[in-house]
Amino acid sequence: MTTTPSIPFIPFALPDIGDDEIAEVVETLKSGWITTGPKTRRFEQDFSAFLGDAGLHAMAVNSATAGLHLALEASGIGPGDEVITTTHTFTATAEVVRYLGADVVLVDIDPATLCIDVAAVEAAITPRTKAVMPVHYAGLAADMATLLPLARRHGLKVIEDAAHALPTTCGGQLVGTLESDATVFSFYANKTMTTGEGGMVVTRDAALAKRIQVMRLHGINRDAFDRFTAKVPSWYYEVIAPGFKYNLTDIASAIGIHQLKRAHAFQQARADIAARYDAAFADLPVITPPQPLHGDSHAWHLYVLRLDDEARLTRDELIEGLYAAGIGCSVHYIPLHLQPYWRDRYQLQAQQFPHSQHAYERMLSLPLYTRMGPAEVQRVIDAVRALLG
Ligand SMILES: *Cc1c(COP(=O)(O)O)cnc(C)c1O
Repeated sequence: MTTTPSIPFIPFALPDIGDDEIAEVVETLKSGWITTGPKTRRFEQDFSAFLGDAGLHAMAVNSATAGLHLALEASGIGPGDEVITTTHTFTATAEVVRYLGADVVLVDIDPATLCIDVAAVEAAITPRTKAVMPVHYAGLAADMATLLPLARRHGLKVIEDAAHALPTTCGGQLVGTLESDATVFSFYANKTMTTGEGGMVVTRDAALAKRIQVMRLHGINRDAFDRFTAKVPSWYYEVIAPGFKYNLTDIASAIGIHQLKRAHAFQQARADIAARYDAAFADLPVITPPQPLHGDSHAWHLYVLRLDDEARLTRDELIEGLYAAGIGCSVHYIPLHLQPYWRDRYQLQAQQFPHSQHAYERMLSLPLYTRMGPAEVQRVIDAVRALLG
């Protein structure tokens, strides 16, 4: 595969860091407080305000993976328990269950939405099931209107993997404000907003929040910022559990404060690109991404195209063709049931996940990022049309 040297490469994703983010980072570096402190506190407050729900506790962490781990730990998940999630996700969603010695039960997706199939969740519930982890795939909300009552009936915790879902709405409510136990967002470099690495756990449950706050910093009952800024400065602290090192630095939060202010504009820019792609590919042998229901908002973290069986190229050939035209693509995801660790541990076979398998074999994620100009969008459209039309 070669790239024509004169044509600039269009990557699959690019972060969008502005002057305000840079100035805030510089100010933080000069401030004398670079780890978790005032900027992180402000980022957490801004995040709750963004979600618009005063009852929410927002807790910054150094990745969504850390946040998912903390949410499950605080929910009491441990050895002997089962947690149900989708096979069509990144391994982070599932690996945190194994950190706690519990078992992962993977289920198939709804072929229309590519999100977890709630009927499959129901069929997978056993007496050992303790929690379910939906993923709002690509930025489209999972079917929470069906999943939440199901979980409630069976006494299951619901931890939402919202790594793609800022801002996404579900039944008119922002993901993060639904009736789940906790929701976890990612600020990884290619997500809809970034802090380089980072995440946010959101919960309404005060006890869950307290446990997460303790466990994200070594199991210490007060964080370092409180210790050094309390009215009566205190050297004294207590370790009440073997906690983790999952706190977010103020350097990262400085970026997050300004990225969050741009989150709605980012969403609009992504939605505009997605709409251009949708219109341009309507007559091709492809399935364009599912649209949100009832005027809900889609975060458009990913634009996932699926090839019809009558397409004249395979998915792999299409990706090679695009790459040769200087366009980067990706595949989200190689389903967990195909990954050696998950396949072998649970003796999984592709036939158990027909919808995920079918979608995986035909899908690719096209470039989608806010700094993408109209000419770059057009280049992707022209290349896809030339290869498939
Ligand atoms: C990116 C991602 C994660 C992990 O996020 P990090 O912040 O990198 O830990 C988890 N789940 C899904 C679905 C993701 O896309």
